[in-house]
Amino acid sequence: MKIEKAEAALSRHYDVVIVGAGIMGAILARRLAENKRRVLLLEAGNGAGLSYDNYSQFLENYYRASAKVPQSPYPENPDAPQPDELTIGLTPPGQEPAPGYFIQRGPLPYRSTYTRYAGGTTLHWLGTSLRMLPEDFRMQSLYGQAQDWPLAYESFSRYYEQAEWELGVSADVEDQSYHGQQFPPGYVYPMHGLPPSLVDQAFAEPLRGQFYELDGQRHPLDVIGTPAARNGIPNPRYNGGKGYQPVGAVGSRAIGHRCMGNTSCVPICPVQAKYNAMKTLVASKHDYVTMVTQCVASRLLLDPDNGRISGVEVKSYDRPNDPAHKVYIARGDIVALCAAPVENAKLMLASGVGNSSGLVGVGIMDHPELLTWGLTQQQVWPFRGPIATSGIEGLRWGDFRSRHASFRIEIGNEGWGWPTGSPGYDVQEFVGQNLWGKQLQRSLIERVTRQVRFGILVEQLPEAGNRVVIDPQYRDPLGNFRPVIHYDVGDYSRAGFAKAREVSNAIFQRCGIADHTTFFPDQPNFSYAGQPFNYQGAGHYMGGHRMGSDRNTSVVDANLCSWDHNNLYLVGCGSMTTSGTSNPTLTGAALSILAAERIHQALGNTQAIATGVSA
Ligand SMILES: Cc1cc2nc3c(=O)[nH]c(=O)nc-3n(C[C@H](O)[C@H](O)[C@H](O)COP(=O)(O)OP(=O)(O)OC[C@H]3O[C@@H](n4cnc5c(N)ncnc54)[C@H](O)[C@@H]3O)c2cc1C
Ligand code: SF4
Repeated sequence: MKIEKAEAALSRHYDVVIVGAGIMGAILARRLAENKRRVLLLEAGNGAGLSYDNYSQFLENYYRASAKVPQSPYPENPDAPQPDELTIGLTPPGQEPAPGYFIQRGPLPYRSTYTRYAGGTTLHWLGTSLRMLPEDFRMQSLYGQAQDWPLAYESFSRYYEQAEWELGVSADVEDQSYHGQQFPPGYVYPMHGLPPSLVDQAFAEPLRGQFYELDGQRHPLDVIGTPAARNGIPNPRYNGGKGYQPVGAVGSRAIGHRCMGNTSCVPICPVQAKYNAMKTLVASKHDYVTMVTQCVASRLLLDPDNGRISGVEVKSYDRPNDPAHKVYIARGDIVALCAAPVENAKLMLASGVGNSSGLVGVGIMDHPELLTWGLTQQQVWPFRGPIATSGIEGLRWGDFRSRHASFRIEIGNEGWGWPTGSPGYDVQEFVGQNLWGKQLQRSLIERVTRQVRFGILVEQLPEAGNRVVIDPQYRDPLGNFRPVIHYDVGDYSRAGFAKAREVSNAIFQRCGIADHTTFFPDQPNFSYAGQPFNYQGAGHYMGGHRMGSDRNTSVVDANLCSWDHNNLYLVGCGSMTTSGTSNPTLTGAALSILAAERIHQALGNTQAIATGVSA
């Protein structure tokens, strides 16, 4: 990949124009370039992280931040604004907007965020890379919920394999072969599974061979290693015995070949042992991929004569704090939107294209997350290893899905860091009790070394009321629309929360863990059957341009091509038909690989339409 200035790069015609240089855009570009397709990548943010010195500055920002949230390392850029955990608040109609990028109409706030820099949200993701279960693709036919995907696990799994190579996933097939997940004979992941932490082991022993009974079905509670896009020990049996070479840090290849276990994966891995999309960007063929940064796509142009997208209007700015910009048109035979679900939907709505079903922006999902936490009897020494290395997966499936949501239980390795801000919170509490010196030290050791927490990711359906819309009165400094978001957690997921709480209680009891879960009434919450719950955002943007087999009930077809414009592709987690319970990015990456294949085929069939001079 090469980076060029807008003026030069946008004077040429490309095979494919891709909007967004996060993981989906990076994979799509790399794959197309391998097939000698000329690609233009438009990126709204800057490419600072591509230089190791600048990446180190991200680290400095993080160290200095008093509130360590996912956005802390990545400074706000008014020309390509991004949502931030610290400014997520509701704006009821008629009121002045709450600070921040999103206009949130509620009734509940959408609590997830993303990052607008080259590399996208993988700059601060966790790296959990589970596949969806075969039954997740068939929610309508099995459970009468939402819609079936136009794909089946069996035909889709080869794209998962390619995505696992691209991300460098560490996992063991023996662990992952549960509930219908099948792998070809001899398949192994690129790297061995990461070792379980002491926290994992505190659950693994008492839960081995145990079940939780629900509707007469027995759900295993075994602790299972979590597939992770972070460097572990390469498996020499990978790729028919050729092995796998871990990819180190961008701009400093000498480091990052092994995870160092320092538990800061979100929001930043100091050594880049965790995958980020900059690794894919720099690996893509120099001659075929041109990236322009600080170039915000603002509108898609439609050719009314043939219904095709004829170009992408972009706003190119020089300085993040200065709204001065120039407008250009990017042109290519095919346009692919990879700007993540909210931005993709916003761009489509701003352009008035691709919405014959009325479903653009509709049915955005997350995995609303229930946190529970407690103290073990023995010391388990959290804050070592990646943030999560294992989970309890047995409630991801079952007949109960016809009534309420399924969920997966992530076991955290960072004590009560997420729910309470530990260990700072513990210091504050003990000092408040007038504990000092050795007494304070002993109290901290006694508590912090025994802290455990679950992050329970609850399935969410593509509810019609959960949507992204635009409103001309809300614009950013470049004049682009700010997303207006309507969000709620429906009864299907709320009932899943109630069940998840019961299961967590049962597990804590079996493992001898004292529950310290606390309800915070001043934080976002809802009730179900009289019981109040706080919820977190998982960062798992999904839906908004769902795929399907009927143009009236979906936005894209099984090739991720818009039903309305045959040269427009919508790529990434926004095309997911339903959410399942797996962290979604591996699925999005697999969809991106599928899209690259289909776009390559489509270009092969439409050469006669190609116009202009290729880059
Ligand atoms: C805290 C956190 C932890 C997470 N952990 C996990 C995890 O463990 N596992 C998992 O599966 N998922 C995880 N996720 C989700 C994961 O990060 C996303 O699913 C994934 O990064 C989405 O990739 P993307 O390429 O679609 O979008 P993004 O990564 O958001 O990239 C989109 C890119 O498009 C650019 N862009 C946006 N608008 C425009 C425009 N108008 N013009 C040009 N460019 C534009 C952006 O600047 C950005 O670079 C996590 C998310 C968060 C917030
Ligand atoms: S534990 Fe540390 S080295 Fe390993 S992926 Fe997380 S941040 Fe990176």
